Amino acid sequence: MTIYQNLIAGEWVGAEASENISPSNTGDVVGLYATGNAEDTKAAIAAAKAAFPAWARSGILERHAILKKTADEILARKEELGKLLAREEGKILPEAIGEVTRAAQIFDFFAGEALRLTGEIVPSARPGITVDITREPIGVVGIITPWNFPIAIPAWKIAPALCYGNTVVFKPAELVPGCAWAIVDILHRAGLPKGVLNLVMGRGSVVGQAMLDSKDLSGITFTGSTGTGKRVALASIEHNRKFQLEMGGKNPMIVLDDADLSVAVEAAANSGFFSTGQRCTASSRLIVTEGIHDKFVAALTEKLKTLNVDDALKAGTHIGPVVDERQLKQDTDYIEIGQKEGAKLAFGGELVKRDTPGFYLQPTLFTEANNDMRISREEIFGPVVSVIRAKDYDEALVIANDTPFGLSAGIATTSLKYASHFKRNSEAGMVMVNLPTAGVDFHVPFGGRKASSFGPREQGKYAAEFFTVVKTAYTLP
Ligand code: ADP
Repeated sequence: MTIYQNLIAGEWVGAEASENISPSNTGDVVGLYATGNAEDTKAAIAAAKAAFPAWARSGILERHAILKKTADEILARKEELGKLLAREEGKILPEAIGEVTRAAQIFDFFAGEALRLTGEIVPSARPGITVDITREPIGVVGIITPWNFPIAIPAWKIAPALCYGNTVVFKPAELVPGCAWAIVDILHRAGLPKGVLNLVMGRGSVVGQAMLDSKDLSGITFTGSTGTGKRVALASIEHNRKFQLEMGGKNPMIVLDDADLSVAVEAAANSGFFSTGQRCTASSRLIVTEGIHDKFVAALTEKLKTLNVDDALKAGTHIGPVVDERQLKQDTDYIEIGQKEGAKLAFGGELVKRDTPGFYLQPTLFTEANNDMRISREEIFGPVVSVIRAKDYDEALVIANDTPFGLSAGIATTSLKYASHFKRNSEAGMVMVNLPTAGVDFHVPFGGRKASSFGPREQGKYAAEFFTVVKTAYTLP
């Protein structure tokens, strides 16, 4: 089998490799992907550093053309890349194709942004002097990404990094090197100069750690677990570098008595269980008021019975496998913990066998949970959701905000009064009314509060906050 290699200083390199295994079928080897080491990482950082001055001064037409070409190729290959994504990560094919489309839209958006770079000229407080305020790239940016969005998250970090004139060292998650390699291959062929974008696949504790320890990265943008995020933060402070973190969630969805039942059930089923619950914006706490509680639980349970758990590539599958054995153990451990804590297992909880050996878990619903239980406080990151009863909206709001996290939050209601109040008083970075807490647009800010995120927002125009640094220049003509 050929090895998909790392890209360092414009050359494909690397002889050490590991197998990329499909979670739908552990006998299916997606490919052999290079596993870089600390030396490779240092070489990639050095290449990005050497490439920075020229790329920082490159023309906007060049950046536009490369990003646009990348967007067009990703879109043209969405079926093929979607299949690769579904195979390596376990997201069902329609969701995977949707994610690939999203990646193309992101590159397209930042291709446009490259043509819209602006600054400000303002009068000085001292007459006769002018002040101009401009944005400059920050330097070499380290990009560390998780496995749950193998192409969209790399896209929403790489596209703005390059658009604003930074050079990049990109380290994807170990479980999903396929989409990472594909996106880098496309950008490389689209005409990026040597060293502007470097790919180092490999272990977090080796490649990731070598990035954290480097003095030559001006910024690190990270999406992943809270524990690793903290390491990124501490190392970045040590090295005086910018950092941006997207970490966990324990996202609430409130369902009020006046909700449209079918809207609430669709939103809860989607955001709790689609993508196997493996989205940081997934709803994992359904906070339901007394008057609708029993009807809602009954309708959601009926809905869960209709969802097929199976091979991600099979037509008719609604929920693909859990991503790997370690994540499956985490999910089943929490299912046990929930039962021990006294929550009622209302649906699912069992592993299921399919035609191929994969990590298949039923969608799992707990009822009679309370907000102090570990299943309500800690991120599970699987298709496991708890229902918490609330007396009324006021109590539901207190419960929704009573969490260490603050990424996304939802409410299902037909009341303008409660919807408006919730939008203002939710302590989450993103609020959804009558919509799943997961599923966001590509051109508007993404990010959370509290333990969920740190630093400026990602996506849309707001991405410039992290990927540029502001300069204020005074001139006496
Ligand atoms: P998860 O538990 O979802 O895999 P991680 O935070 O471990 O979350 O992984 C997110 C990304 O961080 C991955 O690309 C992983 O390889 C990387 N990573 C893991 N450990 C480290 C580390 N010590 N330093 C830098 N990156 C790391």
